[in-house]
Amino acid sequence: MKPGFEAVIGLEIHVQLLTKSKMFCACRNGYGGASNAHTCPVCLGLPGALPVLNREAVRMALLLGLALEAHIQPRSIFYRKQYFYPDLPKGYQITQGPVAVVEEGHITIPGDPAVRGNADPVRIRIERAHLEEDAGKSNHELSDKATYVDLNRAGVPLLEIVGGPDLRSANEAYDYLKALHRLVVFLGICDGNMEEGSFRCDANVSVRPKGDKAFGTRVEVKNLNSFRNVKQAIEFETYRHIAMLEKGEAFTQETRGWDADKGETKSQRTKEAAMDYRFFPEPDLPALTITAEEIEATRRTLPELPEARRGRLIHDYGLTDYEAGMLLQTRAFADYFEAVAKASNGKQAANWMLGEVSRTLNDTGREIETLNLASAQLAELIQLVEAKTINLNTAKEAVFPALLMGEGTAREIVEKRGLAQVSDRHAIETLVLEVIRAHPEQLVQLKAGNEKLKGFFVGQVMKAGKGKVNPQLVNEILEAAFAK
Ligand code: ADP
Ligand code: MG
Ligand code: ZN
Repeated sequence: MKPGFEAVIGLEIHVQLLTKSKMFCACRNGYGGASNAHTCPVCLGLPGALPVLNREAVRMALLLGLALEAHIQPRSIFYRKQYFYPDLPKGYQITQGPVAVVEEGHITIPGDPAVRGNADPVRIRIERAHLEEDAGKSNHELSDKATYVDLNRAGVPLLEIVGGPDLRSANEAYDYLKALHRLVVFLGICDGNMEEGSFRCDANVSVRPKGDKAFGTRVEVKNLNSFRNVKQAIEFETYRHIAMLEKGEAFTQETRGWDADKGETKSQRTKEAAMDYRFFPEPDLPALTITAEEIEATRRTLPELPEARRGRLIHDYGLTDYEAGMLLQTRAFADYFEAVAKASNGKQAANWMLGEVSRTLNDTGREIETLNLASAQLAELIQLVEAKTINLNTAKEAVFPALLMGEGTAREIVEKRGLAQVSDRHAIETLVLEVIRAHPEQLVQLKAGNEKLKGFFVGQVMKAGKGKVNPQLVNEILEAAFAK
């Protein structure tokens, strides 16, 4: 940040809820499928069709509200937000009014030392999270004469999370977005897929002279469909504002779109052209009421939250902050890790999860839930390495792939394939002797001071032992031989 200026950022996040059916009808809620296959008179907006609220969406909103330590409003009302667009068949979106089901929550992120002077945790307010329905999708690319409309997404439940103007840099916005993303995925209320639009973000950005109490004029940047885009767009806007402030240029509140290819934002509409949505209460839906019992019942289903779990993983398994963060990418991933760690060794389990397991998931496009490897099997493999029955290399190169192929348990594979590590001192001494005899010149050079050749000898012995010899023993015995 340029000295003398301060950025003020607030994010609005749209979270698609992982309910089975849509917000106000029984149509399937899911990405993909033939265009308009998942529609009915309600989500097509046919006259006379009546909406019925999906209580599962309410439960999910409550879960988030509780996780954010927010106030849950016992009574809130749905409104109609009117605008005309081909993918909005009713001509209005049903959303919540001035009172939202979730209000005044907060989430804690590390502060950005570049703008705050230290990384102390900062509390970011959540102004509100309200329930609403998604619109359909317009496709302008299929034809240059027509717009095609797919209403499978029309009526899908959304939770819009409005964050307070408490973020002070693009880095903080990024961390905040990550924290909320992790939270909704952890709670199992969203699949978190930004590319498919299940987790979308608009960024409000303004800049003010440092020390000013009043906020500067803000812009709202739309179409930020990746974490990277959010960060880049905010950085871009911050610099643009500062340049204008320095030149004394006046600017107005507006909506801008992020062009990821060009790496810049473009004006879409100014405040003067802002729409009048003619909000009014939705007459076809009763008020949403939530009882204290319902809140308590939901509270009992709240899982251990990511931040608390991160601290526990670090403490219980001796992990770094980074490792714990990576393991917490989803609840299932962290659960799998803990199952392996409890049956083997925490540090090794973390290495396997972030190494071979992650690589396998990436390569196969699978999730940990569908990985065909029981956590107990990975634990057994780690134990075999710990017990020095096999070395780490054999575990990674031979046993792990065989486990994935379903060739049996780790122990069975080691036995069947004869992979057990040779830890027999006598056998290794014989190998060492053979290797030294076969390379007299290298031995002379080594004795003359070429230390690099030690690696060469280790390599030759490992090779002679077909990779199965205990590397520590090889080193030890070689050193002893050289000392003679
Ligand atoms: P709307 O987008 O409907 O106008 P609000 O005025 O409530 O709604 O603002 C929405 C978002 O804009 C919130 O996330 C809030 O934190 C953020 N925001 C409000 N004022 C500013 C500002 N001056 N600079 C940056 N963000 C702001
Ligand atoms: Mg807005
Ligand atoms: Zn429907």
